[in-house]
Amino acid sequence: MNHGSITYGKQYIPFNILYVDRKTLEIAVLPDTSVVIKAPISTRHEEIEKRVAKRARWICRQIAFFNQFNPKTPPRQYLSGETHLYLGRRYRLKLKSGNADGIKLTRGHFLVTSQQRNSPGHIKGMLDNWYADRARHKLHESYERCWQSIHQHAHSRPSLNIRRMKTRWGSLSKNGILTLNVELIRAPQDCIDYVITHELCHLIHHDHGPGFYKLLEKVMPDWERRKHRLELSLI
Ligand SMILES: [Zn+2]
Repeated sequence: MNHGSITYGKQYIPFNILYVDRKTLEIAVLPDTSVVIKAPISTRHEEIEKRVAKRARWICRQIAFFNQFNPKTPPRQYLSGETHLYLGRRYRLKLKSGNADGIKLTRGHFLVTSQQRNSPGHIKGMLDNWYADRARHKLHESYERCWQSIHQHAHSRPSLNIRRMKTRWGSLSKNGILTLNVELIRAPQDCIDYVITHELCHLIHHDHGPGFYKLLEKVMPDWERRKHRLELSLI
């Protein structure tokens, strides 16, 4: 791997360069705050430095973003003040005692009412159910939307299955079942659409060959931006 660096204000930004067979230059900041440049094979070093300098403000912002989670986000404790994600937005948990269990989303807050407000296990159960319920709703909506843009290319419409998945956002089985990770409900809407569209493109192209990307590009021209946003938003 090749290396380079620039300075932006007082910040020294080292980066690694991967020369790849592609047309455009791509800059990524990884969760460990390292900066990786994927550049077309013939790109000159000065050109890469120039491009990195141009994006320096954004790079510094990404580094700062990841730094707030280092070494690691503490595990959720289900106490007031903690933040939880829903459709890409952060909501602060506010626990209130009351006779009936209930969850309301209001102005940046998850307002959770329960007699057992001091039991983190109970609050977790309530939130898990709430997320699962919203996921059923929102992921179906999203599926309908994405299906509209791809159905003319596909032969048959897969059925939708939503469940917890350990390592993936979604998958498409050979017998036509689209499985989505219930945790996707924490991601921004346009990222959810990206995951679904990606999987639906596998109806036509089973691998990640050039044909697959050509189709993905056609039905969702800004898929790469959405993919990056997804990678950044759920840390
Ligand atoms: Zn895929």
